[in-house]
Amino acid sequence: MSEQWIYLNEQFVKKEEAKISVYDHGFLYGDGVFEGIRVYDGNVYRLDEHLDRLYNSAKAILLNIPHSKHEMTEIIIETLKKNLLTNAYIRLVVSRGVGNLGLDPKSCPKPQIIVIAEELTLFPKELYKSGLEIVTVATRRNRPDVLSPKVKSLNYLNNILVKIEASLAGVSEALMLNSEGYVAEGSADNVFIVNGNVLRTPPGYIGALEGITRAAIMEIAESLGYVVKEEPFTRHDVYVADEVFLTGTAAEVIAVVKVDGRIIGDGKPGNVTNDLLEQFREHVVKDGVKVYSRDEQTQVG
Ligand code: PMP
Repeated sequence: MSEQWIYLNEQFVKKEEAKISVYDHGFLYGDGVFEGIRVYDGNVYRLDEHLDRLYNSAKAILLNIPHSKHEMTEIIIETLKKNLLTNAYIRLVVSRGVGNLGLDPKSCPKPQIIVIAEELTLFPKELYKSGLEIVTVATRRNRPDVLSPKVKSLNYLNNILVKIEASLAGVSEALMLNSEGYVAEGSADNVFIVNGNVLRTPPGYIGALEGITRAAIMEIAESLGYVVKEEPFTRHDVYVADEVFLTGTAAEVIAVVKVDGRIIGDGKPGNVTNDLLEQFREHVVKDGVKVYSRDEQTQVG
């Protein structure tokens, strides 16, 4: 890849020079919010939904983003153009900004805005064919009444602990339960179980992030005639499901074929999961914000 440009507070700087202060409260305290967004064929997938979630997360922590959603859309489009990207992963970060060593955000007058856009490292194709083996970890999801999982904050320690437990167990993903023992989500993915033509995913109040991919899959599944229910369920329901899959911006839709040593279905990605992945991949290029005009697209692509 040629030079990579990072958007950092109103300017583009080279990746090597994109640096922020050690006094930034995002760094010192995880005080800030972020989004992970995908671009398919020059289309920023569901950008409006991602921006809604970002601005809602910011509002919840009283962080005032000094740009309108429209301006933020322009910034993202500029970053993609500057990096000549048509298929990419975007990381949009808004941190509380530079302050003193105290906790109080009053010392941070200006949020820092960072947009990183880079070519996506795709998950290996084999993983979609074989499916994932996962385990349930001991770490429980942050309680929604303590730190709401709906806030996509820079404090990802809860999720990082899950990832660490998963890798200690020799797997790449894990199921996280909420404090009452209901299934919440993966380390950075939502979870679905399938029985016959019924799909179930935990409701937001159980303590999952309301994923953009999750919402898309619910819509696609309904349009295909599946019944979709947002309903709490337990590990037992996962073990005895016909199919289990995870959804997320990076992974899209990925089958889970083994959970805590229990083989799911016949141990291969099931028809419903495969069907939804296929439909999702067809749908993503149609549902988004266009980055390039037709002429620009020919120059880039
Ligand atoms: N849960 C968590 C904790 C996440 O970090 C993510 C990734 N943003 C998801 C679920 C999936 O959400 P989305 O489909 O919006 O990427």
